[in-house]
Amino acid sequence: SKNQSVILQCEAVTVEFDGFKAVQGMDLALQQGELRFLIGPNGAGKTTILDVICGKVKPSSGKVTFQGAVDITRRKEHQIAEMGIGRKFQAPSIFPTLTVFENLEIAMRQRRGVFATLVAKLKPEEQERIEAQLKMIGLQDKAQWRAGGLSHGEKQWLEIGMMLLQEPEVLLLDEPVAGMTDKETDKTGELLHEIARRRSIVVVEHDMEFVRNFASKVTVMHEGKLLKEGSMDEIQGDDRVAEVYLGK
Ligand code: ADP
Repeated sequence: SKNQSVILQCEAVTVEFDGFKAVQGMDLALQQGELRFLIGPNGAGKTTILDVICGKVKPSSGKVTFQGAVDITRRKEHQIAEMGIGRKFQAPSIFPTLTVFENLEIAMRQRRGVFATLVAKLKPEEQERIEAQLKMIGLQDKAQWRAGGLSHGEKQWLEIGMMLLQEPEVLLLDEPVAGMTDKETDKTGELLHEIARRRSIVVVEHDMEFVRNFASKVTVMHEGKLLKEGSMDEIQGDDRVAEVYLGK
């Protein structure tokens, strides 16, 4: 069936904050290996739906299922992280006084969502995993830099690398290219393409130029609801979307 390759599904999710419906009856089905963009004007409910998926916010109604049949709606945030859903917020959560390599080492040693310490000596295969990750995020020449001395873009890549070492099935990214230079944005695009070869990703994004670089399905939210879903061409050709979002 068509549903066999759905890795993550939100069904009729509603979130209320003091009676205000930030998300209303939202549906979202992410396929295995899909890179999905989630767009919409400020206040549309994009961040809130990511918060629901990762367990930070509990919906007042509706359901989230992972890997076909596992209902994760009432699971705790750390349990959801352990199951393989990684969330990256806009502000990077790295350890600024440690080196780039040490940051990756901590991430690799920690089980999904749980912190560990730098104790036992790394095994050769662990060393190799970190080096491969350094290369993927383009920081192989800065392995011994203090993470706090990296550029804004480099910090974002480091955090993505840290997440990847925990091998999530699904990555949730909130505006990964915000504040990046054009060059950093291009590199991030390449990185997302590469990640999507093995994992599923949902990206909340404001930068339309950036979204156009991908042949991805785009989901448009407005006032907590699904407004339109389709290719970027379909999105841009939609009158309602133009009205609420692209027409300005
Ligand atoms: P987006 O990410 O699309 O900009 P959000 O999901 O951040 O939108 O917010 C959706 C709506 O919910 C907004 O009107 C916002 O003000 C409101 N909202 C978000 N979080 C909270 C909260 N913790 N308490 C009250 N209102 C909130």
